[in-house]
Amino acid sequence: MSFIGKDRTLFRLFGVPIRVNLSWLFLVALVMMSLAQGYFPSRLGPDVKWYVHWGFAGLGTVALFASLIAHELAHSLVARATGTRVAGITLFIFGGVSQLEDEPPTAASEFLMAVVGPLSSVAIGSALLCIWAVGQFLDWAAATQALLWWLFFVNFMLAGFNSLPAFPLDGGRVLRSALWAVTGDLRLATHVAGRIGSLFGFGFMFLGALAAVTIHGYVIFGVWLIIIGFFLRQAALSSLQMVVIRQQLEGEKVARFMSTDVVTVPRYLDLQRFVDEYVFRHRFSYYPVVDEEGRLVGLVSARAPGKVDQQRWPHTTVEALMRKAEPNSVLRPDADAVDALSALRSGDVHRTVIVDDGRPVGMVSLRDLLGFLALKIDLQPRRHDRI
Ligand SMILES: [Zn+2]
Repeated sequence: MSFIGKDRTLFRLFGVPIRVNLSWLFLVALVMMSLAQGYFPSRLGPDVKWYVHWGFAGLGTVALFASLIAHELAHSLVARATGTRVAGITLFIFGGVSQLEDEPPTAASEFLMAVVGPLSSVAIGSALLCIWAVGQFLDWAAATQALLWWLFFVNFMLAGFNSLPAFPLDGGRVLRSALWAVTGDLRLATHVAGRIGSLFGFGFMFLGALAAVTIHGYVIFGVWLIIIGFFLRQAALSSLQMVVIRQQLEGEKVARFMSTDVVTVPRYLDLQRFVDEYVFRHRFSYYPVVDEEGRLVGLVSARAPGKVDQQRWPHTTVEALMRKAEPNSVLRPDADAVDALSALRSGDVHRTVIVDDGRPVGMVSLRDLLGFLALKIDLQPRRHDRI
């Protein structure tokens, strides 16, 4: 989910990119402040220096995010091991989320993938509780013990909250996998689990409003719950829509709806001619770039020349500005439309080139895909189902 702006990759763990969204900084600040000004002062008393509070708050924040990443990494690694492609882990305002490129292939794989998240949080929390108990026995410093206790508590909270049967939270995914296993119908399972998830979303919003209005000093907590409820509901509904879209697209060949009026650009063309002979004449937003044999080497945006000083246009080639064609952004005409959807959603260019024997034969954009979908649904006999 891109919540505010672009996500940035921090580092990779086991090949899984760990990204952060700008909104995450808000959560970092909130956790730091509540630890440094609320939790530690109340546990350590007034005699302790402020920098001890803030130092331990910093340690707690880092350890909390390590716990969150461990929880998400458990999901991602099991997803990958059971055949679901993982785009990465993103930290954002509500914690972390594992981004999967497609639906899990079977009910069992979804169950395993979902259940390892809360289990890993329980495991981490239990380990911290054991260390805390050792600390009590050995009479460790109060600040260390308070930190360990808080980390034990938040890991159990994390496990507890995520275990709610509110799809797409982990508990909701377990529920969906169970319904899927019993009925053999992913769409029905998603429908029921999504409805329950959406109801939980409403429930959070209601409780949030109630808390904000009736309990003194709970306004921020209430608003927080309302926002979480809202996003839970949105996430449940969009998961449901994705399943419907995927089912409509499954088995459809890309060749059925790709646009075949492809205008290719030779790699050594200069920008002046590119603008004069292609951009103004054809008005496509992207052009496949080809080598001397007509084979695809990249994709160039019609807006790319804008990045170069106009005086240098005659001396700059299209190749210098193009995006290299990557194997996963290129599809064959007999590729499944669902794969086209995955490719379009994962790349940052919402357009993919269809290549036959190395040569571009068509283009597919998200708009083509959605237009095809709309026509297909319109041409179908009406059925009494709702999203
Ligand atoms: Zn989880």
